[in-house]
Amino acid sequence: MEAKKIQKRLFGTNGVRGIVGKDLTPELVLSIGESLGTMRNGRIAVGRDTRTSGETLINAIKAGLLAVGCDVIDCGILPTPALQYLVKEHFDGGAMITASHNPPEYNGVKIIESDGTEMGDEETIKLEQRIFDRSYSTTSWEGAGKETIALHLIEDYITAIVNLFPGKIGNGITVVVDPGSGPACATTSKILTGMGCRVLTINAIMDGTFPGRLPEPSPEGLMGLAALVISSGASFGGAHDGDADRAVFIDEKGQFVEENQEFALVADHICRDKKGVIVTPVSTSQMVEIVAKNYNCTVIYTPVGSIYVARTMRSLIEKGSPVIFGGEGNGGLIFPDHQFCRDGGMTAAMMVAILASRKQKLSLLLEQLPQRHMIKDKIPAIGGAAILEALKSAYSHEIIDETDGLKIFQGNSWALVRASGTEPLIRIFLDAENIEMGKELRDDIMNSIQKVAGRNT
Ligand code: MG
Repeated sequence: MEAKKIQKRLFGTNGVRGIVGKDLTPELVLSIGESLGTMRNGRIAVGRDTRTSGETLINAIKAGLLAVGCDVIDCGILPTPALQYLVKEHFDGGAMITASHNPPEYNGVKIIESDGTEMGDEETIKLEQRIFDRSYSTTSWEGAGKETIALHLIEDYITAIVNLFPGKIGNGITVVVDPGSGPACATTSKILTGMGCRVLTINAIMDGTFPGRLPEPSPEGLMGLAALVISSGASFGGAHDGDADRAVFIDEKGQFVEENQEFALVADHICRDKKGVIVTPVSTSQMVEIVAKNYNCTVIYTPVGSIYVARTMRSLIEKGSPVIFGGEGNGGLIFPDHQFCRDGGMTAAMMVAILASRKQKLSLLLEQLPQRHMIKDKIPAIGGAAILEALKSAYSHEIIDETDGLKIFQGNSWALVRASGTEPLIRIFLDAENIEMGKELRDDIMNSIQKVAGRNT
């Protein structure tokens, strides 16, 4: 289990990201391909999201992989979880050209292992070292890899999800899908239609300039979706980030469903049928744990980052633990019966399954969940590690969890304080029973940070 984070130089929590032509160049992506192909020989699948720089960069990674003798299977434009599914089923590894939720000027690379999970920290550090050392096993003409174009494989992913929900359970349910001009234009509507739903769409033409909304599915960006849900009388609206590993929802009244509520609602549905463990980062609302306890299920916490959740789920299952569900409080949910990565298309399908089984409106189902109030904040600060140390002594009388940063418990509330690895910033998450308790704890933590930060500058 990767219980602790290791700092990487090039790759972040979800791969390499940067502004194209500035931080992220075709030369860098070429060297990622050469390094990855040297470490993971065999058949490597590649894919991309809809960004304008995608075509350049997918060709760069393909050139790198082919140059070191890998065979490349180009799966075209598809969601990250679709490529992860295909790699798990058929290939020795994968590379996805995507910058997920970042604005259009960004792009990046996510590396996929043969089991469909994103590459873990230790292997990523070895990959980075190869890139820095330019340590590649470039082949001669006899060893050059071969390329296969396999744009049809995306259908396997769609079919796999539809088959998990037999019986056209979506009959009578209308859904508005907003793929945000991203790769889910090719998948989510088909999945839901395959389940029997009536599907309407918005922002459903692939376009790397993202003319309708930015790739981050924020409440502001989803106002068009909300309006269409109301005017069409749909049961809900579903939207994705730029690579569709996340899904967020709008209820039938046009209200944005906070992502921790989404997580708790899906957890509630899964725990009704199965007993076991839910895995999630320390930043997820207590709502999920309260739901789990209602059904005699338990929650295991990881550092922040979907890869830690996915790898912990795998590792627990290998040890015989009954892991039933996992995910993050940002709409990135992991269904172990399907695959060990966040999957936006699968999450949208699960929302249909919930409505079909509960036969109540989404807003009513959300009202029945435990009520919690979450506050997210950040504060500029230099010397984050020292500030966290000082905070730890200041709150030594409270229960503290150090899985990732400092999680300080106070009664039924908690505050998670983490230093950013890339910016002079401290990020704070608070989770409380109500807004007043949340604000009280926030003021207390902020005052303590100001005090200890003052001492450190
Ligand atoms: Mg994403």
